[in-house]
Amino acid sequence: MRLESPQAAACNPVANNQCAIGFLQELDRALYDHLHWQNALYRALVSDGAADADASAADGETRCAFGRWYLGLSEATRARDRALEDMWAMHRRMHAAARDLLAIHERGAAIPVATFDAYVDVAQDFKLALLKYQRRIISEVCTLDPLTGAGNRYAMDLRLTEEWERTRRTGLPCSLCMLDIDHFKHINDAYGHAAGDTALRVISRHLKGDGRAYDNLFRYGGEEFLICMPNTALAPAEAVFNRLREGLAALRIPLEGGGELSLTASFGVAPLLPDEPIEHSVELADHALLCAKSSGRNRVCVWDMARRGG
Ligand code: GH3
Ligand code: MG
Ligand code: MG
Repeated sequence: MRLESPQAAACNPVANNQCAIGFLQELDRALYDHLHWQNALYRALVSDGAADADASAADGETRCAFGRWYLGLSEATRARDRALEDMWAMHRRMHAAARDLLAIHERGAAIPVATFDAYVDVAQDFKLALLKYQRRIISEVCTLDPLTGAGNRYAMDLRLTEEWERTRRTGLPCSLCMLDIDHFKHINDAYGHAAGDTALRVISRHLKGDGRAYDNLFRYGGEEFLICMPNTALAPAEAVFNRLREGLAALRIPLEGGGELSLTASFGVAPLLPDEPIEHSVELADHALLCAKSSGRNRVCVWDMARRGG
């Protein structure tokens, strides 16, 4: 029942695929051990065999695979994710209910149905919560960019298809924005690749924090992001992106060895056209981005302006 979690203690499964895979392996083992532990509990209740010492111990919840794994996580990891805390509370209740069963059994009394059902209910809830948590981590690994926590291209394709179908159905507008960091190569050259990575994380957090919808930011590639803004026509979208652009330019990103860096980005905005293939609208946003770059960077260009400009 030992869990090896050297990296799990300090990692964020959402922001780090390696860590998420470690999480999944450990949760798998916790589930396997839980089923094994439960079988041993049932065997002890219906036979003359002795119960596992860990099951009847007052601190049994800290001795099993899940308990060891949970207690090995850093405070920061636990605090980041409410689901972990909920699972831990359920797990504690399950162990307490198992201890009740064992205590009655050891007195030689019959276990009341209600006491048995109370255990089964909480054990079931715990198992379902564990499975649900595993599914969530798998879904995050499949849809999030591990460096920035923004959606990946797969998530972007799903979302754009959804929005495209919605614009066709409802006629409501949807704006797309392609964003590219200005002179990012220079950031890497001047401060190092690790500082560049940090900058990408901070930028992503900024865009998610200021954006209206948390889950509409996607890492398109390298230092390019795509933002999808449902129910928003080009003019209001332009105003929102100008605010994001100004906020980005005002950011001061701390460097590990001291000091800080700042940067700017260029934005290209286009409508998600209901009568064109999605890729065409993305190309229009890219075209507007080129216009923002060629007209001086650190600016927002909207597709029809780009078109007018040739
Ligand atoms: P421009 O203003 O024209 O966009 O200039 P730029 O230097 O940003 O141009 P370009 O798109 O050619 O360069 C992007 C750079 O981004 C090159 C690449 O090394 C860097 N980059 C791409 N992905 C990552 C990443 O994940 N981490 C880091 N640190 N750098 C990355
Ligand atoms: Mg760039
Ligand atoms: Mg680029």
